[in-house]
Amino acid sequence: MSQVLRPRRVGVFGGAFDPPHQAHVALARAALAQLGLDELRIFPTGDAWHKTRRLSAASDRLAMARLAFEGLPGAVVDERELSREGPSYTIDTLEALAAEAPGAEFVLLMGGDQWAAFTGWHRWQDIATRARLCVLARPGSAEALPAGLAPPLQLVLPPMDVSATALREALADGHLSPEEQARLLPEAVARYISTHGLYGHPQPGLTAPHA
Ligand code: ATP
Repeated sequence: MSQVLRPRRVGVFGGAFDPPHQAHVALARAALAQLGLDELRIFPTGDAWHKTRRLSAASDRLAMARLAFEGLPGAVVDERELSREGPSYTIDTLEALAAEAPGAEFVLLMGGDQWAAFTGWHRWQDIATRARLCVLARPGSAEALPAGLAPPLQLVLPPMDVSATALREALADGHLSPEEQARLLPEAVARYISTHGLYGHPQPGLTAPHA
């Protein structure tokens, strides 16, 4: 019986993951389940050229990404963008992956906010040639198809109103209830944030200094 061999299909998912939250994990899980991926590579960004604020330490974001995605078979956290000098450009990562796996197909995953801004990405036409794009709609982000791009693949998943920015703010303000925390953050990530006192989150066991 002849066997049809198809190219290896690799998902590529980059982000600041500052911190990684449940929408990231849901997106990764849906991509693995719905796109026939052989592997999903997850890239915490180094110097995120499109973010104006300073990111948390690379070591913390890497550790949290590993904790967030460790339960997903086929997901691999790849740290190469963290050690790259200069801005983290997706095209550099795609070219490196293509050189390592000739013949592989790549699917680049992103949320609707990134899709809406995609034609501002460095060498976006080359990215669109190298990879199929797959978008998860995000509440509040535009749905329009940027000119010159084919419609992307879409994941079947209800939109999730969660962002790392809102989480950082809620953690800093101490406004994140245990229920909200459990809903929005993977448990191991919440524990890491608490243990390491990230985002202004009070560290357990620390008492206020005496005046
Ligand atoms: P921040 O609020 O700090 O900008 P973020 O929540 O957007 O962070 P990132 O790490 O920047 O998180 O996102 C990585 C990828 O995940 C991006 O492609 C982003 O669009 C996507 N993403 C993040 N949150 C969602 C969400 N709620 N729905 C769909 N996609 C999302």
